[in-house]
Amino acid sequence: MALTHLLGYPRIGARRELKFALERFWSGAVAATELLDTGRRLRATHWSRQEAAGIDILTAGDFSYYDPMLDLIALLGCIPARFGADAGALSLADYFTLARGNDRHPPLEMTKWFDTNYHYLVPELGADTRFEGGVEWYFDPVRECRSRARTAKAALVGPITFLRLAKCLDPEFDRLQLLEPLTRAYARVLERLGTLGVGWVQLDEPVLATELAPEWLAAYARAYSALSGRGPRILLATYFGGVGHHAEAIARLPVQGIHLDLVRDPAQLAAWHKLLPPTWVLSAGAIDGRNIWRTDLRAALARLRPVHEAIGDRLWIAPSCSLLHVPVSAAQDAGIDPEIGAWLAFADEKLAELKVLARALDQGEACVRSELEAADAAASSRRASPRVADPAVRARMAAVTPAMTERKSPFEQRIRLQRERFRLPLFPTTTIGSFPQTAQIRGARAALKREAIDTEAYQAAMRSEIEHAVRCQERIGLDVLVHGEAERGDMVEYFADKLAGFTATGDGWVQSYGSRCVKPPIVFGDVSRPAAMTVEESVYAQSLTERPMKGMLTGPVTLLQWSFVRDDQAREATAVQIALAIRDEVAALERAGIGIIQIDEPAIREGLPLKRADWGAYLAWAVHSFRLAAAVVGDETQIHTHMCYSEFRDILPAIAAMDADAITIETSRSHMDLLADFAHFRYPNEIGPGVYDIHSPRVPSVDEMVALLDSAVAVIPAQRLWVNPDCGLKTRGWPEVEPALANLVAAARRMRERFAARQD
Ligand code: GLN
Ligand code: ZN
Repeated sequence: MALTHLLGYPRIGARRELKFALERFWSGAVAATELLDTGRRLRATHWSRQEAAGIDILTAGDFSYYDPMLDLIALLGCIPARFGADAGALSLADYFTLARGNDRHPPLEMTKWFDTNYHYLVPELGADTRFEGGVEWYFDPVRECRSRARTAKAALVGPITFLRLAKCLDPEFDRLQLLEPLTRAYARVLERLGTLGVGWVQLDEPVLATELAPEWLAAYARAYSALSGRGPRILLATYFGGVGHHAEAIARLPVQGIHLDLVRDPAQLAAWHKLLPPTWVLSAGAIDGRNIWRTDLRAALARLRPVHEAIGDRLWIAPSCSLLHVPVSAAQDAGIDPEIGAWLAFADEKLAELKVLARALDQGEACVRSELEAADAAASSRRASPRVADPAVRARMAAVTPAMTERKSPFEQRIRLQRERFRLPLFPTTTIGSFPQTAQIRGARAALKREAIDTEAYQAAMRSEIEHAVRCQERIGLDVLVHGEAERGDMVEYFADKLAGFTATGDGWVQSYGSRCVKPPIVFGDVSRPAAMTVEESVYAQSLTERPMKGMLTGPVTLLQWSFVRDDQAREATAVQIALAIRDEVAALERAGIGIIQIDEPAIREGLPLKRADWGAYLAWAVHSFRLAAAVVGDETQIHTHMCYSEFRDILPAIAAMDADAITIETSRSHMDLLADFAHFRYPNEIGPGVYDIHSPRVPSVDEMVALLDSAVAVIPAQRLWVNPDCGLKTRGWPEVEPALANLVAAARRMRERFAARQD
């Protein structure tokens, strides 16, 4: 019998129950018991759904009140000393302090989980790290799972991935020094799981999909030898890419099974089939855990059948990775376009697909004929739908020429024309686009949605917000203004709503971190722009001021990266289509007299493939898409881009190749360290290193910002520097934003005085 299991089920709840319970608890409205009850209920519901779908092995450890990596830190007892917490008696309040910080303790850092939009909390390790006195509550869900399941599995991130993803404050510290104590802590956990009667432990080791130096492969051998025979059998879970490049090293590990991502790398199945040690289980990740399309069940069966014939019961089947990355139920989502809804499989639909595959393998296809026929019908309706293919878009794609990605003149010529046109002072000041999304703005949007106000009233409300933002920026004395993005609840959803080829879900929520969820749009068809998307707001804003008004767009790579995309064409083809649509908007803004246009690409970096060997190809099409969107304008129009992260070193050539006239980046928290990289690389164009950390409500002083600018001018010529915050201000409040921006303008003025004095 081919056994079915999951690497993980979405924990947030079909109606975001966990989010709301957390927020009630944090606000003090309810006691911890209510939060814990919600958690228990959600776990029970999620297991019931799996049981109802006939999933054979139930998994514990995929649920968390904030993040499983944080749970693991608590379980291993490696709470950073700076929190002063007792690792043996970590309270719920302490737990949330680690995640969210408080006035005394900044939280653990949070970062994106590989190439997903999920954020995990980063372990902080160093020479003084101890793995002692881990929490007891970790095992509660394990007991619950054990009491209902014939076969229970506990899932946790494996030791080497844990060590790799940790952050060491001392860059000189060799984290592999912690391997032994870390492994001992894991061994204790495994022993404990064994005594609880757990049959399997799933150790997630996605770093195996990356390239690894020999010492790291050796670390795998050492750690897993120490863990073998400690209790449950070990399923080594790999995903987000193939692991064939490490196959030989992996096959020597003393584990009892491996999970493979056959969606990202189907070809590795054949290789592993030959290599598989004779006692191992092979868990085939045959259903896409990262996307929302129904599976081509016949293709999956064709791939799995020979393996099943060869290894029989040792074949397990599963989604490619945890279902954390997809919404819970398409069937229960009333907000989806019905035609498109028939093409989709969210987590619950994937459970059913899994069972169809297992039954087909065990009992023959005849017993699932109707399910297979239903899948065929959905696939052919998707293929044939006139809403998917747009001949006009296809024709445009075919007509893309290299010239369309080239500005008319090189940067040095363009910038001369732009300086003449805008006559900005040295150290020009600007912001990243959004101003605070006040309760009033959100209220107006909600009222429009429930039809309490009409479109006209809503637009009038937005116009008055724009006017307020413009007046405020003039008063503060900023040089290049923005309209404030009041009309945008979200920088991707706003455009997805207006572009053909995109659709929205009603309840397709996916956890981004903690209680925060996102509702990614779905790209189902060829993308085009039926009408202008931002021109009205930008033109209105420009009409209110003499100063240059910056137009504000989300870039093609970010729109792609933060959506569920088609699986019936290459990502880069979809990126080109989106780029052409944004190009139309760029051209329209220019025609309407907007002289500076910012195309945000905060997601370029997170789209990087796991394997460095694949970076070049990705960056090439990402840069191509950006240039295709931007290069339609004349030399006098200034293109900006914005990225909010601070690790650029690896990708600077690509960033430069985007050829934006100016780039704004996040730097205030890293104290401009990364500017050294820009300087060293000789980044050729203008650059706005953020001097105001918008992630904190703190108002930075003029002196602080001057100090940051001082370190900037030490490495970048003053003529090429802009002065701006790290990122958009939508999550902040006006009471902090106004004084912070006033200080920012004062800092720029002080720099100007200094430089004017120097020039005399
Ligand atoms: N223009 C967007 C804003 O200001 C940029 C957001 C982002 O970088 N994530 O909100
Ligand atoms: Zn940003």
